[in-house]
Amino acid sequence: MTALDIAHDKRGAASPAAAPARAKPGLVGLTRQKLMDALKSAGLPEKQLRMRAGQVWNGLYKSGFTDFSRMTTLSKDLRETLGNAFDISRLEIVTEQKSVDGTRKWLLRLPSGVPGVPGPEIETVYIPEEGRGTLCVSSQVGCTLTCTFCHTGTQKLVRNLTAGEIVGQVLIARDALGEWPDSNRNSDDRLITNIVMMGMGEPLYNFDNVRDALDVISDGEGISLSKRRITLSTSGVVPMIEKAGADIGCMLAISLHAVNDETRNKLVPLNKKYPIRELLDACRNYPGLSNARRITFEYVMLKGVNDSIEDAKELVRLLKGIPAKINLIPFNPWPGSPYECSDWAQIEKFADFVNRAGYASPVRTPRGRDIMAACGQLKSETVKKRASERFREAQAEA
Ligand code: SAH
Ligand code: SF4
Repeated sequence: MTALDIAHDKRGAASPAAAPARAKPGLVGLTRQKLMDALKSAGLPEKQLRMRAGQVWNGLYKSGFTDFSRMTTLSKDLRETLGNAFDISRLEIVTEQKSVDGTRKWLLRLPSGVPGVPGPEIETVYIPEEGRGTLCVSSQVGCTLTCTFCHTGTQKLVRNLTAGEIVGQVLIARDALGEWPDSNRNSDDRLITNIVMMGMGEPLYNFDNVRDALDVISDGEGISLSKRRITLSTSGVVPMIEKAGADIGCMLAISLHAVNDETRNKLVPLNKKYPIRELLDACRNYPGLSNARRITFEYVMLKGVNDSIEDAKELVRLLKGIPAKINLIPFNPWPGSPYECSDWAQIEKFADFVNRAGYASPVRTPRGRDIMAACGQLKSETVKKRASERFREAQAEA
């Protein structure tokens, strides 16, 4: 086991390794208060902190600067002091791929903390659609959970992303899309209109960093993307759901995927700890829930596993009384994946039933499948464990 290997505890949960220290501390992803604290530690006088933090904030999030030398609202001396003390560079882009459908995927390398040793990798995906553009952001390297249909769940190397690494994904996408105001783009003409925490990892297992990152992203003075346009997807970490509503306040998506505990235990093993009834109770208590702010229930369509009309009926029954949207996701296969996508005719039948029960347009079109950018296909090259091996383990456990 290396230091970055995950440490499984007896219940099958796991603790991710910590992010390594960097040569110079980073400023990206710090909340305003933490940014002021950092500037104070570099010797800036107390009474200037608020103003200086505002200037640095604007440089980072309004202009997208990666170098203090461009922050000309600061004196030359101060730019030099900050440049010597702090890092505001981007994550390293390993590859950028473009799908035939316009979806873009970036493979990004994180710092390892050890000179000469390459750090772990994560993926970020941009999905352009008519009138909107969604950025799918990762919250962890890999995932400590082991959903049997998910490629990320087969990845052994796990650590939490820092808030800076989460915000950094948005900054890289804005660079690549030319979305900074200086790049002649009208600021209302946004390319990233929505963010979904649906990349690699379980965001509620990296709560504080996700909360800070989303505070930075939604701050009205910077990237300024409203929390109504940010969706956090969870596999069902029940004790954190209410806290997410209270402390983060973004939109919520639940990876439900099955309507009885027996099937869900197999698909989403976390269900053994937090079964469907407890999960739906937590949803009913989600702060701010209303017909205008519904919870999205994601449901991956797996042939012969969860796609019968009986399942659809039970789904509608279970969600009764919860302001909900249903998102049917055709299963996206990956090398060695142990499931098949439901037939289209069956997906349509299922969708029809759900539609007639009052849930509109529920099938999510797979995007970027040719570059392995679709839901659940993300997995960096730092993979250590073969999928088939994992599947056998899951079967043995079941
Ligand atoms: N860990 C979080 C968020 C990341 S996964 C969660 O599980 O909700 C984002 C979504 O993709 C989840 O709904 C997940 O269940 C779904 N997903 C995972 N693998 C998939 C696959 N192979 N095909 C389709 N959807 C998948
Ligand atoms: Fe982790 Fe979500 Fe994949 Fe499950 S579906 S293994 S929680 S990333």
